[in-house]
Amino acid sequence: MGKIIAVANQKGGVGKTTTAINLAAYLAIEGKNVLLVDFDDQGNATSGLGFERSTLDFCVYDALMEQVELDEVILPTMLATLTLIPATRNLAGAAVELVEVKQREQALARLLSPIKEDYDFIIIDSPPSLGLLTINALTAADSILIPVQCEYYALEGLSDLMQTIDQIKEFLNPRLAIEGIVLTMYDSRTNLALDVVEEIQKNFSGKVFTAIIPRNVRVAEAPSHGLPISLYASLSKGAESYSALAKEVINNGN
Ligand code: ATP
Ligand code: MG
Repeated sequence: MGKIIAVANQKGGVGKTTTAINLAAYLAIEGKNVLLVDFDDQGNATSGLGFERSTLDFCVYDALMEQVELDEVILPTMLATLTLIPATRNLAGAAVELVEVKQREQALARLLSPIKEDYDFIIIDSPPSLGLLTINALTAADSILIPVQCEYYALEGLSDLMQTIDQIKEFLNPRLAIEGIVLTMYDSRTNLALDVVEEIQKNFSGKVFTAIIPRNVRVAEAPSHGLPISLYASLSKGAESYSALAKEVINNGN
């Protein structure tokens, strides 16, 4: 049974892409068959896995607009059981062109539904907005995984996100569940980080992953080498925490 998880938070720079890449990689390492969908025109998940965007023939946009078959867009990666649907700048056009399409919120769901059962997990990396692309991601997904950065304004925006989730459940995708909140870029040396963890755990009791992702320079460096943390620095604290997160996600399904 394939499970589609959208990694989303309209706040920029909170660790969505880092989490999408490294969660996908560790799920693959756990023996799961995983597809990562880059659904942000910044293409960070694509470049983070070592693909030069300008050299790609097709991206998720072409499949979404039914200009090429989905098979032609799915790329193998350095991990045997991890594949990628890449994004390029072209995806920016989709947000505009989709407005013309019937049931425009369901375009990604329509694209993924025929292949859903080929995978154990499909992980979608979303852009930093609550626009049409993110709405498509949440409409296609079984659950949302929300990275929250351990910093002062962490809670800001979360109530908007929760409202959006409720609306999507009501009008577009009743099965959308909250997979969990993952705290990212945690710095144990600051009281602030501790406060944020407590605050989030208080507000979202039972929804917060036990695994907390530390601020870790290896995690930040890995994408510039085109590698998930599992292949770049497998013994780092960042690697350990993403591995633990993947195990929790697997257990969530049991
Ligand atoms: P956007 O909203 O632009 O898509 P994002 O939410 O996808 O951003 P990332 O790109 O994953 O966020 O991370 C933002 C920045 O923080 C990146 O430079 C990334 O390398 C860095 N970063 C993410 N997680 C960590 C971490 N655990 N330790 C150190 N740096 C991190
Ligand atoms: Mg991103």
